[in-house]
Amino acid sequence: MNTLKVSVVTPDGPVITGDFEMVSCKAESGEIGILPGHIPLVAPLVIDSVRLKRDKTEEVVVVNGGFLEVRPNEVSILSPSAELAADVDIARAEEARLRAEKLLEEQEDVDKERAELALMRAMNRIRVGKLGQKNK
Ligand code: ATP
Repeated sequence: MNTLKVSVVTPDGPVITGDFEMVSCKAESGEIGILPGHIPLVAPLVIDSVRLKRDKTEEVVVVNGGFLEVRPNEVSILSPSAELAADVDIARAEEARLRAEKLLEEQEDVDKERAELALMRAMNRIRVGKLGQKNK
């Protein structure tokens, strides 16, 4: 079987590594699907998910931006933070969302960009986490 060596790594260490048949992710330029034999590529990722397919099963990973690097039959994703969709603590993400929304409502000197990114991470975790945990 033709596969890709995939790793999703954060500053805290690897989140998942292994051989997969296809990688789907969302770059700033749009959705990218990578199969074995793909040309080398580096692309910035947005806050979304990465899906890793093998034997008709799929691993879904929450990825909070970062970079995708494709080398011959190897895919590396480096992200500031990432976790398996199945491991997302939805209640924690709901709390993070409320915190960020509150900050954004305040008129005072709030770092809006930072709060907006925290809100995007939280909403992405809720969405992807719920998808990943649906069949459990
Ligand atoms: P929080 O405010 O809840 O910490 P955050 O968006 O600031 O959220 P990050 O900086 O993206 O958190 O991640 C810090 C670490 O916490 C990472 O290891 C990440 O995987 C983990 N993490 C954050 N939120 C969740 C969650 N809802 N479920 C599981 N792990 C989480």
